[in-house]
Amino acid sequence: MPKFNSLLLISTLSLSVFATSCQEPVHEQTHEVKSPKNIILFIGDGMGFAQVQAAMLYSDDELNMEKFPVTGLQITSSNSHKITDSGASATAMATGTKTTNRMIGMTPDTIPVPNMIDLMAGKGKKTAVVVSSAITHATPAAFLAHNESRYNYEEIAEQIALNAPIDLFIGGGLKNFNKRKDHNNHIQSLLDRGFVVDTTFDATSWDCHPKQAVFLHEWHLDPAHKGRGNVMVHAVEHAINCLSQTESGFFMMFEGSLIDFAGHDNDSAFLLAEMIDFDQAIGKALNFAKENRETLVVVTSDHETGGLTLVESKPRDKHAYFHFSTDEHTFSLVPVFAFGPGAESFTGMYDNTEIFHKIKQLVD
Ligand code: MG
Ligand code: ZN
Repeated sequence: MPKFNSLLLISTLSLSVFATSCQEPVHEQTHEVKSPKNIILFIGDGMGFAQVQAAMLYSDDELNMEKFPVTGLQITSSNSHKITDSGASATAMATGTKTTNRMIGMTPDTIPVPNMIDLMAGKGKKTAVVVSSAITHATPAAFLAHNESRYNYEEIAEQIALNAPIDLFIGGGLKNFNKRKDHNNHIQSLLDRGFVVDTTFDATSWDCHPKQAVFLHEWHLDPAHKGRGNVMVHAVEHAINCLSQTESGFFMMFEGSLIDFAGHDNDSAFLLAEMIDFDQAIGKALNFAKENRETLVVVTSDHETGGLTLVESKPRDKHAYFHFSTDEHTFSLVPVFAFGPGAESFTGMYDNTEIFHKIKQLVD
């Protein structure tokens, strides 16, 4: 018997050596990482590990997030608090700078800092932000504006309309542009800058334009399980379709904004619908990246919301696994998934600011 075992071991070993030598040498360039031409950053607001696992439990199919070859762990604290808000955490990822909760796009002493959209536009890349919240809400605002308070929505809208070097944005928040206390019409400002402004919900009617703004709601979009449909999945497809036509490449930030809202509400049906919608949007980018081979896809979160754990109570009812321990954010680590050129640099445990620095290093 021992002889048989060792023979089996030898044949297994030689088989695995054979299999390795037949594969493409994907890890050959350990010192020179190829710079990605396109970068797509997905942020699931409020998405911790349990949120991902809840979606795995619920979904009949393998999640797209499960298909990523590289995973990492992100520490989400802000400059002012262990438990961050979405303004400070988005600022960390968008600018590489830790700031005070509620601030966006600036240092704790209120100095505006350039963000990833500025960086990519400066390199001649096309830029897009696609979100299911208002475009003026904390997460997208950190990629498009600078303000002492994330709640100054109308100031943020003004900065987006007048200054942000953005080529395409899709999301809610129309009222911050055209129903303002100061009566300025910043839809007109967008038109003056050459934007085509669309407000139709039907994604099949959208064409590609050099500058395009699509407003899908006065404020935040409806939840995925209450009438939103799959417009966000179509929005990713639209953005990739339009932006990939450019030679210099593109950067897109996509946010599954309402995952966080579901966590605050401790609403498991809402959470699952948002997670599945987010994962389907990721699938569109992953399929494009696999075909295109010059696109880095990074999926992460800004913090966990709800203190979600999955416990077994009534096994027949999937929703019975959900146990929320708070209706606020938590200090939990959040996942990072990466695919494409430079994906390897996202392994390990690191601060939220590293999302910015790692991407910057890959394109510099
Ligand atoms: Mg957000
Ligand atoms: Zn939140």
